Amino acid sequence: MANVLVSACLLGLPTRYDGAAKPDRELLEQLRTEGHTPIPVCPEQLGGLPTPRPPAEIEHDDGPAVLAGRARVVTLEGRDITESYLRGADAALRIARLLSCRTAWLKEKSPACGVHRIKRGERTVPGRGVAAARLEAGGLEVFGR
Ligand code: SF4
Repeated sequence: MANVLVSACLLGLPTRYDGAAKPDRELLEQLRTEGHTPIPVCPEQLGGLPTPRPPAEIEHDDGPAVLAGRARVVTLEGRDITESYLRGADAALRIARLLSCRTAWLKEKSPACGVHRIKRGERTVPGRGVAAARLEAGGLEVFGR
């Protein structure tokens, strides 16, 4: 039995940029069967961004580069929202530590939560989101859905 960090949208909360959810019943059932307690986090909301909000992407690189100050997160209109992403990633890690979470299940393709893939324009490219990179650097094992 353990607390497991999960992207809030995968748990059915309407936290996505477009105000929708992305419930993953298979994941919920898996966590339930394993006796784990899902802890919902939305790093974009935790960073202070509203819902709904303009879609955003990581310019040129991916989450580890944002953490290192070598890349930015920008809205499709070009507004720099890197600080919000960094703040949200830090908050997600604080919650993970507060509740002793060792693993996280995160939503692929998101500039915050993507574990193996992020969106860039119309394309999906290999890469980590900002929060996924922060959680991994903080010692959590991160899995993508
Ligand atoms: S930041 Fe993560 S939890 Fe929040 S809506 Fe995007 S994918 Fe879901």
